[in-house]
Amino acid sequence: MIMFTSHQDVSSSNDKASLETTFHSWKARYGELAAALIGGGLTAIGWLLEQRLYSVAVSFFILSYAVGGYAKAKEGLNTLVHERDLDVNLLMFAAAIGAAAIGYWTEGAILIFIFSLSGALETLTIERSSRDISALMDMKPEKAIRCLEGAQETVPIQELRIDDIIIIKNGERIPADGIVMEGTSSVNQASITGESIPVDKAAGDPVFAGTLNGEGALYVKVTASSESTLFAKIIRLVQDAQSEMPKAERFMQRFERIYARAVIGITSSLIVLPPWLLGWSWTDALYKAMVFLVVASPCALVASIMPVMLSAISNGARKGLLFKGGAHLESISSVKAIALDKTGTLTIGKPAVTDIIAFAPLNKDELLKIAASIETMSTHPLARAIVDEAESKGIRLERCLDFQAMTGRGVQGNVLEQTWTIGKPSLFEKEARQQGIFEEIEKLQQGNTVVVIGQAGTVIGAIALQDRIRPEAAPMVEKLKTLGVSVVMLTGDQKLTADLIASQAGIGRIYAELLPEEKLRIVKQLKNDYGSVAMIGDGVNDAPALATATVGIAMGGAGSDAALETADLVLMNDDLLKISFAIELGRRMKKVIKQNIIFAAVVILFLIASNFISGIPLPLGVLGHEGSTILVILNGLRLLR
Ligand code: ADP
Ligand code: MG
Repeated sequence: MIMFTSHQDVSSSNDKASLETTFHSWKARYGELAAALIGGGLTAIGWLLEQRLYSVAVSFFILSYAVGGYAKAKEGLNTLVHERDLDVNLLMFAAAIGAAAIGYWTEGAILIFIFSLSGALETLTIERSSRDISALMDMKPEKAIRCLEGAQETVPIQELRIDDIIIIKNGERIPADGIVMEGTSSVNQASITGESIPVDKAAGDPVFAGTLNGEGALYVKVTASSESTLFAKIIRLVQDAQSEMPKAERFMQRFERIYARAVIGITSSLIVLPPWLLGWSWTDALYKAMVFLVVASPCALVASIMPVMLSAISNGARKGLLFKGGAHLESISSVKAIALDKTGTLTIGKPAVTDIIAFAPLNKDELLKIAASIETMSTHPLARAIVDEAESKGIRLERCLDFQAMTGRGVQGNVLEQTWTIGKPSLFEKEARQQGIFEEIEKLQQGNTVVVIGQAGTVIGAIALQDRIRPEAAPMVEKLKTLGVSVVMLTGDQKLTADLIASQAGIGRIYAELLPEEKLRIVKQLKNDYGSVAMIGDGVNDAPALATATVGIAMGGAGSDAALETADLVLMNDDLLKISFAIELGRRMKKVIKQNIIFAAVVILFLIASNFISGIPLPLGVLGHEGSTILVILNGLRLLR
């Protein structure tokens, strides 16, 4: 959106700005359609006048060529000048001018009218899909955590002011430019430098909006306000649909250029050779060559893919599926296996504390206070649960320094001048055995996720938590099986808890107690076994696996920024049932593209052959050619529903 901030007269300049943006968006959406229709109107007038007032009619035709053909001719000339290549736009313009040259003004004008109409339809689809995608932004407004006298407060990033202190947790995007005040971490700055090796940051170092925080937590003083949100960035990427085109579309673009050259070559020889070799008259040869040029132009082929893809992306967007490009729809259609993360993906990701054990010297509340103070810095669902529990008991939290996440294992931090570690029980197995509390912790793990709190080689307590499975998890697994997709569960959690959730979801194949790099290894293995694998996850720990999978899918609501950035598809409303919808949508897209290409190719071949065998009149050629183009586009628009 365009924002003007004039100091004297904010309101009226805003009105003007919004008027201007309305006009621009209207022009982008309907400009081409209006030009096509006006061109069509001028053509109709020309046609009515042709018999009586020929010269007046011709001026109407010339006008209709100019109005209707302007946008397409510009595209064609651009390709010619900048890429020194021919495309279908130029072919159509050449055909229309050729038709006019032999006196077939009406046919030429109709050619341009329908061609520009099909172009306008395509632009409308692009507009539609980018609007549907933008609407997704409202589903996840981006927030920052502001630090005010020790308390944390979540605010929309637009409300950040210069000199605010913000906390950036592990795996989160940095919401604004700033300077590190406290904490150490490594930050992936690939989004601005292109270099993906993380850069170490400590007090005094600058950090930049849009870069991705690693394992540590940082206190940052804001130096510039920011309006660039993660979704704004993703959406810009998606609207630039060219960035991730399906293979078929990339092939079609190369094909179009080569084919266009061949058509021009054949057309020129059709004009020159028959009069020379067969003694045809020039007008006969020119006529046949023009018919050839019209029917051989690959408009319908070129229009076979993009409108289908854009309609499918649009359709997905309205159901909360943010595809970062048409290529991913293509790959999800042929997925053979899906790997699902447990915490936050199969489960709601809002666990609740069910039990606390405290060993001397701390009591339960003191233990919870320490644990929660550290977990305020973490983005993990378990961390949120522990903080919520402390807050519900009215426990005042302490400041945590030197926070470090050990992704997939636990966290570490300094509270009340001592360093504590909280994480999976296996981190403390040796200590627990020595202290003779191993059995007690193991018993707690029956159906619970347990985290152990330790300090300097001693276990001082454990917290048991329970998460609920998403109600749609079991129906989703069922649906995926009917689609012929195998389902596997990957989790960093303990075996016992993993088994319980897996049996509730109906998943037979489970890998538990995985570290992030092991998740990645298993996804690679699955890719070897099945060929094409999707991975669904929410956490920082899932990001490497999401990147490796054929299609990485992130939970939009529960997901960490790291997962959202790496994924190819974001489930904005966290509805797992939409996964099978996405697969079916991808399959439908592929089917419709195939139909279109076959239909377009058959029509072209049939018309070319008829023209050579018996000759066809130019109006019929125009009708067959343009009719098939429009049909192919309309067929593609079916995917909007
Ligand atoms: P999942 O793969 O199921 O999403 P993770 O890999 O994120 O699980 O976590 C694996 C295990 O690591 C958790 O079950 C927990 O024991 C431990 N862990 C991870 N992060 C934290 C944290 N912030 N606080 C305590 N324990 C954690
Ligand atoms: Mg998870």
